[in-house]
Amino acid sequence: MTPSEAEYQRPMCHCGHELVLFEEYVNEMCKAITEQGKIGTTLKRGFFKNEPRRTLRCLKCRNYYDVGFDEHNRVVRGRKHSVRRVHA
Ligand SMILES: [Zn+2]
Repeated sequence: MTPSEAEYQRPMCHCGHELVLFEEYVNEMCKAITEQGKIGTTLKRGFFKNEPRRTLRCLKCRNYYDVGFDEHNRVVRGRKHSVRRVHA
C-alpha cells in the first residue's frame, strides 16, 4: 500500500458532514398508444438505460457535488452544485 492509498478519507461536505453517493437510473416503460390517442397498456417495463448519473449529496444540508475519482479510482468530491439544481 502506498502512502497516498492509506490517506484516503471519505468526501466531506463544506458543512463538515460526510457525503453519500447517489445513483440515478433512467427507468423506461414501453407503452402502447390507444386508438383514442391515450396512453395505453405497458408493453415492456422497467428497464434501465445507460450508466447511472452519480452525485455526492449531503444528507444534512442538501448540498450536491459531482463525483470524482482519484488516481486509485477512489471516490472524491468534485464541483459543488447549487442546492436547487434540477438535473436535466
Ligand atoms: Zn452539508
